[in-house]
Amino acid sequence: MTEPHRPGVPGRRRLRIVHLFPDLLNVYGDAGNVRTIVVRAEARGILVDVAEVRAGSRSVPAADILLIGGGQDREQLAVARALAEHGAAIRDEIAAGAALLAVCGGLQNLGWSYRHSGGDIIAGPGILDLRTEAGPTRMVGPVLAAMRGGPGAWSGRDEVVGFENHAGRTWLGPSARPFAMVEIGHGNNGQDGTEGILAMPGEDGLAGLRIGTYLHGPVLPRNPQIADALIAAAMARGAQSADLAPLDDADEWGAHDAYASRSRERRTRERRLPRPLQRLVAPLRSLIGF
Ligand code: GLN
Repeated sequence: MTEPHRPGVPGRRRLRIVHLFPDLLNVYGDAGNVRTIVVRAEARGILVDVAEVRAGSRSVPAADILLIGGGQDREQLAVARALAEHGAAIRDEIAAGAALLAVCGGLQNLGWSYRHSGGDIIAGPGILDLRTEAGPTRMVGPVLAAMRGGPGAWSGRDEVVGFENHAGRTWLGPSARPFAMVEIGHGNNGQDGTEGILAMPGEDGLAGLRIGTYLHGPVLPRNPQIADALIAAAMARGAQSADLAPLDDADEWGAHDAYASRSRERRTRERRLPRPLQRLVAPLRSLIGF
Protein backbone atom coordinates (compact mmCIF):
# COMPACT_ATOMS: atom_id res chain seq x y z
CA MET A 1 0.00 0.00 0.00
CA THR A 2 1.23 3.49 -0.79
CA GLU A 3 0.37 5.99 1.90
CA PRO A 4 -0.54 9.34 0.34
CA HIS A 5 1.35 12.42 1.46
CA ARG A 6 -0.55 14.70 3.81
CA PRO A 7 -1.21 18.10 2.23
CA GLY A 8 1.26 20.81 3.25
CA VAL A 9 0.60 24.29 4.62
CA PRO A 10 0.84 26.88 1.81
CA GLY A 11 3.82 29.20 2.08
CA ARG A 12 6.00 26.90 4.21
CA ARG A 13 8.94 25.03 2.83
CA ARG A 14 8.05 21.39 2.50
CA LEU A 15 10.07 18.18 2.36
CA ARG A 16 8.52 15.00 1.01
CA ILE A 17 10.28 11.91 2.31
CA VAL A 18 9.67 8.52 0.72
CA HIS A 19 10.85 5.49 2.68
CA LEU A 20 11.38 2.58 0.27
CA PHE A 21 10.43 -0.92 1.43
CA PRO A 22 10.49 -0.38 5.21
CA ASP A 23 8.59 -3.69 5.52
CA LEU A 24 11.48 -5.60 3.89
CA LEU A 25 14.69 -3.65 4.48
CA ASN A 26 15.27 -2.35 7.99
CA VAL A 27 18.15 -3.96 9.85
CA TYR A 28 20.18 -2.28 12.60
CA GLY A 29 17.54 0.42 12.94
CA ASP A 30 17.99 1.88 9.44
CA ALA A 31 14.54 3.49 9.88
CA GLY A 32 16.36 5.83 12.28
CA ASN A 33 17.74 7.55 9.17
CA VAL A 34 14.22 8.65 8.26
CA ARG A 35 13.66 9.87 11.82
CA THR A 36 16.89 11.89 11.68
CA ILE A 37 15.88 13.62 8.46
CA VAL A 38 12.44 14.41 9.92
CA VAL A 39 13.84 15.85 13.17
CA ARG A 40 16.56 17.91 11.49
CA ALA A 41 14.19 19.31 8.85
CA GLU A 42 11.46 20.16 11.34
CA ALA A 43 14.04 21.90 13.55
CA ARG A 44 14.54 24.29 10.57
CA GLY A 45 10.81 24.97 10.32
CA ILE A 46 10.46 22.77 7.24
CA LEU A 47 7.15 20.98 6.92
CA VAL A 48 7.83 17.27 6.54
CA ASP A 49 5.71 14.41 5.38
CA VAL A 50 6.69 10.77 5.11
CA ALA A 51 5.25 8.23 2.70
CA GLU A 52 6.21 4.59 2.27
CA VAL A 53 6.56 2.34 -0.74
CA ARG A 54 5.96 -1.27 0.32
CA ALA A 55 6.24 -4.51 -1.62
CA GLY A 56 2.62 -4.35 -2.76
CA SER A 57 2.45 -0.61 -3.43
CA ARG A 58 0.96 0.39 -6.73
CA SER A 59 3.00 3.57 -7.30
CA VAL A 60 5.87 5.75 -6.07
CA PRO A 61 4.74 9.07 -4.56
CA ALA A 62 6.49 12.31 -5.54
CA ALA A 63 9.64 12.65 -3.40
CA ASP A 64 12.30 15.13 -2.33
CA ILE A 65 14.30 12.47 -0.45
CA LEU A 66 14.19 8.70 -0.90
CA LEU A 67 15.65 6.40 1.75
CA ILE A 68 16.21 2.64 1.59
CA GLY A 69 17.76 0.44 4.28
CA GLY A 70 19.56 -2.88 4.50
CA GLY A 71 18.26 -6.43 4.84
CA GLN A 72 18.83 -10.07 4.10
CA ASP A 73 19.01 -11.86 0.75
CA ARG A 74 15.46 -13.28 1.02
CA GLU A 75 13.99 -9.81 1.49
CA GLN A 76 16.25 -8.44 -1.24
CA LEU A 77 14.68 -10.88 -3.72
CA ALA A 78 11.26 -9.43 -2.90
CA VAL A 79 12.67 -5.91 -3.25
CA ALA A 80 14.15 -6.82 -6.65
CA ARG A 81 10.71 -7.97 -7.80
CA ALA A 82 9.15 -4.71 -6.60
CA LEU A 83 11.94 -2.70 -8.25
CA ALA A 84 11.24 -4.38 -11.58
CA GLU A 85 7.91 -2.57 -11.32
CA HIS A 86 8.91 0.65 -9.52
CA GLY A 87 12.59 1.14 -10.46
CA ALA A 88 11.79 3.45 -13.39
CA ALA A 89 9.53 5.67 -11.25
CA ILE A 90 12.21 5.88 -8.54
CA ARG A 91 14.79 6.82 -11.18
CA ASP A 92 12.40 9.51 -12.51
CA GLU A 93 12.14 11.07 -9.04
CA ILE A 94 15.94 11.22 -8.74
CA ALA A 95 16.26 12.47 -12.32
CA ALA A 96 13.97 15.35 -11.30
CA GLY A 97 16.13 16.23 -8.27
CA ALA A 98 15.13 13.98 -5.37
CA ALA A 99 18.06 12.99 -3.13
CA LEU A 100 18.75 9.34 -2.27
CA LEU A 101 20.29 7.54 0.71
CA ALA A 102 20.72 3.80 0.14
CA VAL A 103 22.18 1.55 2.85
CA CYS A 104 23.76 -1.90 2.43
CA GLY A 105 21.11 -4.25 1.00
CA GLY A 106 19.34 -1.21 -0.47
CA LEU A 107 22.60 -0.09 -2.10
CA GLN A 108 23.03 -3.58 -3.56
CA ASN A 109 19.43 -3.67 -4.86
CA LEU A 110 19.71 -0.26 -6.56
CA GLY A 111 22.90 -1.20 -8.44
CA TRP A 112 23.05 -3.03 -11.78
CA SER A 113 23.11 -6.53 -10.31
CA TYR A 114 23.56 -8.59 -7.16
CA ARG A 115 24.73 -12.21 -7.20
CA HIS A 116 23.34 -13.38 -3.89
CA SER A 117 24.53 -16.18 -1.62
CA GLY A 118 22.35 -18.73 -3.48
CA GLY A 119 24.33 -18.00 -6.67
CA ASP A 120 21.55 -16.41 -8.73
CA ILE A 121 21.95 -12.94 -10.17
CA ILE A 122 19.27 -10.38 -9.31
CA ALA A 123 19.04 -7.53 -11.81
CA GLY A 124 18.68 -4.00 -10.44
CA PRO A 125 17.69 -0.67 -11.99
CA GLY A 126 21.29 0.68 -12.11
CA ILE A 127 20.35 3.84 -10.22
CA LEU A 128 23.72 3.38 -8.50
CA ASP A 129 26.61 2.52 -10.81
CA LEU A 130 27.81 -0.61 -9.04
CA ARG A 131 27.64 -4.41 -9.03
CA THR A 132 27.70 -6.77 -6.07
CA GLU A 133 28.57 -10.43 -5.57
CA ALA A 134 28.13 -12.33 -2.31
CA GLY A 135 31.43 -13.64 -0.98
CA PRO A 136 32.25 -16.62 1.26
CA THR A 137 32.69 -14.61 4.49
CA ARG A 138 30.87 -11.75 6.14
CA MET A 139 32.61 -8.42 6.58
CA VAL A 140 31.66 -7.26 10.03
CA GLY A 141 32.74 -4.51 12.40
CA PRO A 142 33.16 -0.80 12.98
CA VAL A 143 34.01 1.45 10.06
CA LEU A 144 35.79 4.76 10.09
CA ALA A 145 36.20 6.38 6.71
CA ALA A 146 37.22 9.70 5.15
CA MET A 147 34.99 11.42 2.63
CA ARG A 148 36.68 13.46 -0.10
CA GLY A 149 34.91 16.38 -1.70
CA GLY A 150 31.17 16.14 -1.89
CA PRO A 151 28.21 18.38 -1.12
CA GLY A 152 29.36 21.59 0.58
CA ALA A 153 32.52 19.58 1.35
CA TRP A 154 30.42 18.07 4.18
CA SER A 155 30.61 21.28 6.24
CA GLY A 156 34.27 20.58 6.95
CA ARG A 157 33.55 17.25 8.71
CA ASP A 158 34.88 14.62 6.36
CA GLU A 159 34.97 11.65 8.74
CA VAL A 160 32.10 9.16 8.69
CA VAL A 161 31.55 6.35 11.23
CA GLY A 162 29.23 3.34 11.33
CA PHE A 163 28.90 -0.42 11.53
CA GLU A 164 29.08 -2.85 8.61
CA ASN A 165 27.86 -6.43 8.30
CA HIS A 166 27.68 -7.79 4.77
CA ALA A 167 28.73 -10.72 2.64
CA GLY A 168 28.27 -8.77 -0.59
CA ARG A 169 31.39 -7.42 -2.31
CA THR A 170 30.54 -4.31 -4.26
CA TRP A 171 32.50 -3.00 -7.24
CA LEU A 172 31.93 0.52 -8.50
CA GLY A 173 31.53 1.35 -12.19
CA PRO A 174 34.67 2.74 -13.89
CA SER A 175 33.71 6.39 -13.49
CA ALA A 176 31.79 6.07 -10.20
CA ARG A 177 33.16 7.84 -7.13
CA PRO A 178 33.28 6.23 -3.67
CA PHE A 179 31.41 7.89 -0.84
CA ALA A 180 34.50 7.52 1.37
CA MET A 181 37.81 5.68 1.77
CA VAL A 182 38.15 3.36 4.76
CA GLU A 183 40.66 3.91 7.53
CA ILE A 184 39.15 1.11 9.62
CA GLY A 185 36.84 -1.59 8.24
CA HIS A 186 36.29 -3.43 4.96
CA GLY A 187 34.17 -1.04 2.91
CA ASN A 188 32.70 -2.08 -0.41
CA ASN A 189 34.76 -5.19 -1.03
CA GLY A 190 37.63 -5.50 1.46
CA GLN A 191 40.15 -4.85 -1.30
CA ASP A 192 40.15 -1.42 -2.90
CA GLY A 193 39.53 0.71 0.21
CA THR A 194 36.35 2.26 -1.15
CA GLU A 195 33.22 2.68 0.95
CA GLY A 196 29.86 3.27 -0.71
CA ILE A 197 29.16 5.48 -3.69
CA LEU A 198 28.57 9.20 -4.19
CA ALA A 199 26.96 10.76 -7.23
CA MET A 200 26.60 14.52 -7.26
CA PRO A 201 23.55 16.36 -8.62
CA GLY A 202 23.56 16.27 -12.40
CA GLU A 203 25.88 13.31 -12.78
CA ASP A 204 24.70 10.42 -14.98
CA GLY A 205 21.83 12.62 -16.15
CA LEU A 206 20.14 12.54 -12.73
CA ALA A 207 19.62 15.86 -10.94
CA GLY A 208 19.46 14.36 -7.44
CA LEU A 209 22.32 13.77 -4.99
CA ARG A 210 22.86 10.03 -4.43
CA ILE A 211 24.66 8.54 -1.44
CA GLY A 212 25.06 4.78 -1.07
CA THR A 213 26.85 3.28 1.92
CA TYR A 214 27.32 0.02 3.82
CA LEU A 215 27.11 1.88 7.10
CA HIS A 216 24.45 1.04 9.63
CA GLY A 217 24.12 2.30 13.12
CA PRO A 218 21.91 3.88 11.75
CA VAL A 219 24.31 6.12 9.85
CA LEU A 220 22.66 9.55 9.97
CA PRO A 221 22.30 10.25 13.74
CA ARG A 222 26.06 9.93 14.27
CA ASN A 223 26.96 11.70 11.03
CA PRO A 224 24.68 14.76 10.98
CA GLN A 225 26.62 16.45 8.18
CA ILE A 226 25.39 13.70 5.83
CA ALA A 227 21.78 14.17 6.95
CA ASP A 228 22.10 17.90 6.29
CA ALA A 229 23.70 17.36 2.89
CA LEU A 230 20.69 15.24 1.89
CA ILE A 231 18.19 17.79 3.21
CA ALA A 232 20.01 20.71 1.55
CA ALA A 233 20.21 18.88 -1.79
CA ALA A 234 16.56 17.89 -1.59
CA MET A 235 15.43 21.43 -0.76
CA ALA A 236 17.55 22.83 -3.60
CA ARG A 237 16.18 20.17 -6.01
CA GLY A 238 19.52 19.49 -7.65
CA ALA A 239 21.06 22.96 -7.41
CA GLN A 240 24.30 23.19 -5.48
CA SER A 241 23.09 24.40 -2.08
CA ALA A 242 20.18 25.49 0.08
CA ASP A 243 20.55 27.50 3.27
CA LEU A 244 20.05 25.40 6.38
CA ALA A 245 20.24 27.05 9.79
CA PRO A 246 22.91 25.39 11.94
CA LEU A 247 21.67 23.16 14.79
CA ASP A 248 23.22 22.38 18.15
CA ASP A 249 24.84 19.05 17.30
CA ALA A 250 26.94 18.62 20.44
CA ASP A 251 25.27 15.28 21.32
CA GLU A 252 25.52 13.96 17.76
CA TRP A 253 29.20 14.84 17.45
CA GLY A 254 29.82 13.47 20.95
CA ALA A 255 28.39 10.12 19.79
CA HIS A 256 30.38 10.32 16.56
CA ASP A 257 33.66 11.08 18.29
CA ALA A 258 33.12 8.39 20.94
CA TYR A 259 32.49 5.80 18.20
CA ALA A 260 35.57 6.94 16.28
CA SER A 261 37.86 6.76 19.32
CA ARG A 262 36.47 3.35 20.41
CA SER A 263 37.12 2.06 16.87
CA ARG A 264 40.69 3.39 16.89
CA GLU A 265 41.39 1.97 20.37
CA ARG A 266 40.08 -1.40 19.27
CA ARG A 267 42.31 -1.36 16.20
CA THR A 268 45.31 -0.47 18.38
CA ARG A 269 44.47 -3.40 20.71
CA GLU A 270 44.18 -5.76 17.77
CA ARG A 271 47.49 -4.62 16.31
CA ARG A 272 49.19 -5.47 19.61
CA LEU A 273 48.07 -9.09 19.29
CA PRO A 274 50.62 -11.58 17.94
CA ARG A 275 50.27 -11.95 14.15
CA PRO A 276 48.61 -15.40 14.13
CA LEU A 277 45.95 -14.11 16.56
CA GLN A 278 45.45 -10.95 14.46
CA ARG A 279 44.64 -13.17 11.51
CA LEU A 280 41.93 -14.90 13.58
CA VAL A 281 40.07 -11.69 14.43
CA ALA A 282 38.34 -11.14 11.07
CA PRO A 283 37.07 -14.73 10.66
CA LEU A 284 35.90 -14.74 14.29
CA ARG A 285 33.99 -11.50 13.74
CA SER A 286 32.52 -12.94 10.59
CA LEU A 287 31.30 -16.00 12.56
CA ILE A 288 29.82 -14.30 15.58
CA GLY A 289 29.03 -10.92 14.06
CA PHE A 290 30.65 -8.49 16.51
N1 GLN B 1 22.39 -9.34 2.38
C1 GLN B 1 23.40 -8.40 2.13
C2 GLN B 1 24.80 -8.88 2.44
O1 GLN B 1 25.02 -9.61 3.38
C3 GLN B 1 23.06 -7.11 2.83
C4 GLN B 1 23.27 -7.15 4.32
C5 GLN B 1 22.79 -5.91 5.03
O2 GLN B 1 21.99 -5.14 4.49
N2 GLN B 1 23.24 -5.74 6.26
O3 GLN B 1 25.68 -8.50 1.73
